[in-house]
Amino acid sequence: MAGMTLEDIYSLGEKTLMDNGCDAANAAAVARTMTAAERDGSQSHGLFRLPAYVKGLREGNANGSADPTVEQIAPSVLKVHGQEGFASLALERAISPLADLAGQQGIAMCGLTRIRHFAALWPEVEALAERGLVGFAVTAAIPYVAPAGGREALFGTNPMAFAWPRADGGVLAFDQAASVIARGDVMIHARDGVPVPEGTGLDKDGNPTTDGQAILDGGVQLAFGGYKGSAIAMMIELMAGAMIGEVFSFEAKKTAVPGCPFNGGEFLMAIDPTKTAGADFLAHGEELLGKIEDMEGARLPGARRHANRAKGGPAEVSDKILEAIAAL
Ligand code: NDP
Repeated sequence: MAGMTLEDIYSLGEKTLMDNGCDAANAAAVARTMTAAERDGSQSHGLFRLPAYVKGLREGNANGSADPTVEQIAPSVLKVHGQEGFASLALERAISPLADLAGQQGIAMCGLTRIRHFAALWPEVEALAERGLVGFAVTAAIPYVAPAGGREALFGTNPMAFAWPRADGGVLAFDQAASVIARGDVMIHARDGVPVPEGTGLDKDGNPTTDGQAILDGGVQLAFGGYKGSAIAMMIELMAGAMIGEVFSFEAKKTAVPGCPFNGGEFLMAIDPTKTAGADFLAHGEELLGKIEDMEGARLPGARRHANRAKGGPAEVSDKILEAIAAL
């Protein structure tokens, strides 16, 4: 492990992306995304992803010069044209117009299209909650997860994120894959030879396994909570696919370049609770959240990340990751 500051991490990400054909705006946005993940202790979306972003640039899977535009297509609906670029810049450009529209209308949604996604979703929903809004986001991927009872990968690991403003100016946020664990975590377990939790997936013969490599080698991942998580994965396919004019995971696979960020879309929604409930919503929300915080054994989702954030960032980055990046 090597000690690195957040500034070092940002600079390494930005420089490596620019050295590999990314323009300054896209490199900075992706570097911000990776740095925020490292800061919050979400290593599977930090520098670990940089080789894949570079692969995306080198293999023509991602447009490193994308200049995403935001179009209003209905009174409460925005569409972002991602121009085959990485999701980070498209999302950064969506937040202010979406927040403004939600402030006017009470609710607004944004379909981000033609993006290359590989990141966590909490940055965009937290950005909305920091503006006093409720944020919700979902995205599909490429097929890794079998529907409940099936053995064939059809759904992505399909994350869903939600954020809520707190009375002290902070935010509550959860961000979770529809699979038992995220794909990146299966990869990290396989790389480090550590078993994945039981129920994570099946091997290529359909047998339950805790060997991450067996899941990667022709096996499938499973949704959390059996058929209930499978239904959520299906809903996310519909919301981030057909509902915004984008591809399903199984369709994205047809043009996907292995090991590169996924092509597809993201659904992002903002609600202004002062319009739906009045200013009391904030104090009322605190009554519920405070009970969870005060309950022995329970914690709020996002509390681990926010505690890492408060420490000022990571001290350690894996040598294996730094070796892979140096080779780029
Ligand atoms: P985790 O299972 O680690 O965590 C899911 C959520 O549960 C987090 O908000 C976490 O908060 C919270 N949590 C964890 N433990 C507890 C607990 N004991 N009590 C209360 N809350 C808890 O995340 P996943 O593996 O499901 O997903 C990881 C990331 O992968 C996500 O950020 C997701 O967006 C991303 N992803 C991206 C994809 C893409 O295609 N772009 C595809 C799939 C996943 P905390 O973080 O504070 O621990």
